[in-house]
Amino acid sequence: MAVALPVVGQARGGGEAGPIWRDFERTRDALVGAMEMGTCDGCDGCGGRCTNGFGVSRAEYEAVQAYLAAVPPEERERVLGQDKVAPWPGAEETGVTFTFCRYRDRENDNCFIYPVRPTVCRLFGHTPWLPCPIGAVRRVPAGSPELWGDYSAFERRTWEAWDEVEKIAINK
Ligand code: SF4
Repeated sequence: MAVALPVVGQARGGGEAGPIWRDFERTRDALVGAMEMGTCDGCDGCGGRCTNGFGVSRAEYEAVQAYLAAVPPEERERVLGQDKVAPWPGAEETGVTFTFCRYRDRENDNCFIYPVRPTVCRLFGHTPWLPCPIGAVRRVPAGSPELWGDYSAFERRTWEAWDEVEKIAINK
């Protein structure tokens, strides 16, 4: 089953990407810079957790739109057109399924938008409440609960919900 292709490259800009968001991004990126990211090089141990339905900020949505607009269309369609529904691990015989994030590249087993992935994806595996699922990351930097608190101040919606907001704005 193919997923519907999202709005691509039409975000109207502005949004939350003002000074408050940019301050947040600087703090977030400094925290990410203190993470044991070398441990994650070439590892896809948390890739199975890339499930659909989490919220992202408008600025994050817009960053992805801009990124996708610069990707060759055939590459974009290759990933966005993949079937994202997969059997529930360990319960394959039951027919129970889950849905991957639309940006999970199921052919290459990685994140198609990695350079602009949202905050929760950057924290995954490197915070006390979202620990590395295979226990490879042993040290997590301080500050992620405070960062998450700051992030909570921004409106967050799923990719699909932002698509709807965008379509309504484009059609006005
Ligand atoms: S944006 Fe990338 S890292 Fe985040 S859930 Fe989707 S595929 Fe995974």
